[in-house]
Amino acid sequence: MIEKVNPLGFNKRIFAFRFFLVTCVQNVISFLLGGEKCLCCSKWTLRPPLCSSCLSEIFRPFHSESCSVCGKPLVSERGLCTVCREEAALKSIDAAFSLHCYQLWKKSLLFAWKMEGKRSLSPYFAALCYKKIQSLWQKEGHQFPLVPVPPRAGKIRERGWDQIDDLCFYLRKGWNVKILPLLERLSRTQQKKLDRAQRLEGIESSYRLKSAKKLKGLIRKIPETVMLIDDVLTTGSTVEACARELKKLGVKKVFSLTLFIVD
Ligand SMILES: [Zn+2]
Ligand SMILES: [Zn+2]
Repeated sequence: MIEKVNPLGFNKRIFAFRFFLVTCVQNVISFLLGGEKCLCCSKWTLRPPLCSSCLSEIFRPFHSESCSVCGKPLVSERGLCTVCREEAALKSIDAAFSLHCYQLWKKSLLFAWKMEGKRSLSPYFAALCYKKIQSLWQKEGHQFPLVPVPPRAGKIRERGWDQIDDLCFYLRKGWNVKILPLLERLSRTQQKKLDRAQRLEGIESSYRLKSAKKLKGLIRKIPETVMLIDDVLTTGSTVEACARELKKLGVKKVFSLTLFIVD
């Protein structure tokens, strides 16, 4: 069943082959141990981390009409959602895209990935992002780079990894997506502990461009278009703060892509 879904269409052959080998070894071990629970539905599967039905569910495109600014799904309204009509929280973002609504089993999936460290989900999420990136490249007529939303300072040192960093690794290695880590994060306060008002106020100073020297090492020319990448869009204040910095640098168009959107 999983072969039919074939979500990991890496276009770099050597990387794909190495990934295939590692996955094979993992699957053989899992098979010998009698399988593992699917991270989504907890059914036993011989091909972890996800059973075939959950895997195809994740790759099912998000069809409902969405807000042209923040990407939230629309029920009766057209064009803009009610929040964007009133507050226009996303001023520096040209368009925000999300792949799934943050509901039901998707919450446990994100928890397993982010909090429980199930890194085996990273290539699947990267494949999902790549599908969207590719369609936007086609729409825009050129391939623009991705700018990761930076993790809290010290996170990689403490936890050993960061989920956005992992996504970018697979996007770069598997599909040649250009990654430009132009931003850094200042505050150590974790975003989830802040309420909405605090988030809108305090987040502005949390992100800034890297030093001119570091930027010089990363880019020769300011890119015209970039796309921010993050895991969840809640109020949009994080991507907005990042986009504002990128516009200060001279980037003309800033998109954002998040795996999940809280509606
Ligand atoms: Zn499942
Ligand atoms: Zn909106």
